[in-house]
Amino acid sequence: MRGGDLLYSVYWLYNRTGDEFLLDLARKVHRRTAEWEKDVINWHNVNMSQGFGQPATFYMQSKDPNHLLAAERNWRKIRDMYGQVPGGMFGGDENCRPGFTGPRQAVETCGMVEMMLSHEILLTITGDAKWADRCEDVAFNSLPAAFTPDLKALHYLTAPNMILCDRHNKSPGLQNRGPMLLFNPHIHRCCQHNTGHGWPYYAEHLWMATGGNGLAAVLYAPSQVTAKVGDGNKVTITERTRYPFDESIQLTVTTAKPVSFPLYLRVPGWCEKPKLIINGKKAAVKARSGAYILIDRKWMDGDRVSLNLPMKITLTKWTKNKNSVSVNRGPLTYSLKIGEKYVKAGGTDKWPAWEIHPTTPWNYGLVLNEKDPTSSFRVVYKAWPDDDQPFEAIAAPIELRAKAKKIPAWQKDHLGLVGKLQPSPVKSNELTETVTLVPMGCARLRISAFPTIGTGPDAHQWEEPPKSLPATASHCWPGDTVAALSDKLLPKNSNDHSIPRFTWWDHKGTTEWVQYDFEQPRKVSGVSVYWFDDIGSGGCRIPKSWRVLYKDADRWKQVSNTGDYGLEKDKFNNIKFDPVQTSSLRLEVRLQPNFSGGVLEWRIDTVKR
Ligand SMILES: [Zn+2]
Repeated sequence: MRGGDLLYSVYWLYNRTGDEFLLDLARKVHRRTAEWEKDVINWHNVNMSQGFGQPATFYMQSKDPNHLLAAERNWRKIRDMYGQVPGGMFGGDENCRPGFTGPRQAVETCGMVEMMLSHEILLTITGDAKWADRCEDVAFNSLPAAFTPDLKALHYLTAPNMILCDRHNKSPGLQNRGPMLLFNPHIHRCCQHNTGHGWPYYAEHLWMATGGNGLAAVLYAPSQVTAKVGDGNKVTITERTRYPFDESIQLTVTTAKPVSFPLYLRVPGWCEKPKLIINGKKAAVKARSGAYILIDRKWMDGDRVSLNLPMKITLTKWTKNKNSVSVNRGPLTYSLKIGEKYVKAGGTDKWPAWEIHPTTPWNYGLVLNEKDPTSSFRVVYKAWPDDDQPFEAIAAPIELRAKAKKIPAWQKDHLGLVGKLQPSPVKSNELTETVTLVPMGCARLRISAFPTIGTGPDAHQWEEPPKSLPATASHCWPGDTVAALSDKLLPKNSNDHSIPRFTWWDHKGTTEWVQYDFEQPRKVSGVSVYWFDDIGSGGCRIPKSWRVLYKDADRWKQVSNTGDYGLEKDKFNNIKFDPVQTSSLRLEVRLQPNFSGGVLEWRIDTVKR
């Protein structure tokens, strides 16, 4: 899957030694690597991030244009299917899954840094500035929020819309089970070591060599580059900037003697009218957005180049994700600023783990000026943080002000994930408020794909998701939930892993129970139970036997006049009994010896008065 990374190293060595056997080795590596030239052939987020561009690396040797085109085709297919969200990534937590395509789906921190590196490699191979834009999108909007601002803890998964980062399991809303949103320096295995390469590789790719022995500034960041240029003279260029928070980039040339060489400056795809000043004099710019400005001249010691990249507000409408909208300014996307409360949750004193809880409301839809939506925002500049860490909600050097209304029915679900988006525009009778947006990379809690508020006939009512009945159990596996019993998500079969479930795992062969506790006593005349049975992959089976009990005053009694208690897979097992008036109804099961068990859905028949 990831053989393309080796390919790149083989060419690196070949370019230094010229040993022909390395080209044979490269052919073999390509032959033994999954065939990304044919399609996106695997949907694990890190495999995708490392593999999608592999054919373009081999293109340097094969010269087959299809190899070059495959990288772009793969990139677009991934974004089209799972990346209709802001932040430059896609929903792959841990794999992309059909039906899980909204902005609450997350991606692994490994996936982000590998996607950045793939973009950087494709930029070196093609010179095409779009790969730089795509790299910055991930680097500035997705990666920083995967870490705590002090860079001492990270979490495994980050999503564009994420309103609570606690230790609790979010599966199957997110595919990975366990505390994947907890910022913890001790538990996130691959991401913990893998992400170390994100910023170093980024720094290595800021500057590149060009034809004509020149230099190209392809990604912008404070930096210094020393290179042999022109006729072999050594020059140093110092770059001063607070990009992407600032539009201005200042370059100063240091050279022992005058030297002619071409200097290329990337114009980002979002920038329409770059401005250039050389040694205090305005210079004409012919380059379009997404291309390079070429300055070919004789450079003197102390020459100064000032590049200004005006940043405009733009909106992206995600028609495939319920017409939600994200707000961009230059390379940055903006998120709702949500109060973040850090709660220590394990780790050590020196290397603590953190939950992050919201302290302010997050369920807003944007109120946009219909005639000119981008005019709905006001830019507010703030002081640069003393510690040089701008990627923090309370330290963001730029904020936007916007108008918004609350959508009261938009709540977190029983897993603690932000409720799924519903179609925009949305009706709201709430007051219009002024809200603050901060760069997405600054926000550990965030809404980055917003519903919009509408007043016309096309505005939708936000439907409150069905509430689960209060339930308790003799035991529930921490990765599962009693809320699954009545979540109205119906299984395809008893071995369906795509919906939430309740299990008694890892209790085996015991007598167990699960019960509903009604807010008001109900008259109940039957139940339907859909058993969980993961034969082939796990240790849960249909129970050995079961019965229904109800609470009469303080005593549990068995219901009477039932038919057979069904023990069938892949369907609801229905039984009727003499109606009982009760405040609690219980399923009691005897598990099969050496096996556990579980329930995917449990319905009750209530007798209407
Ligand atoms: Zn990882």
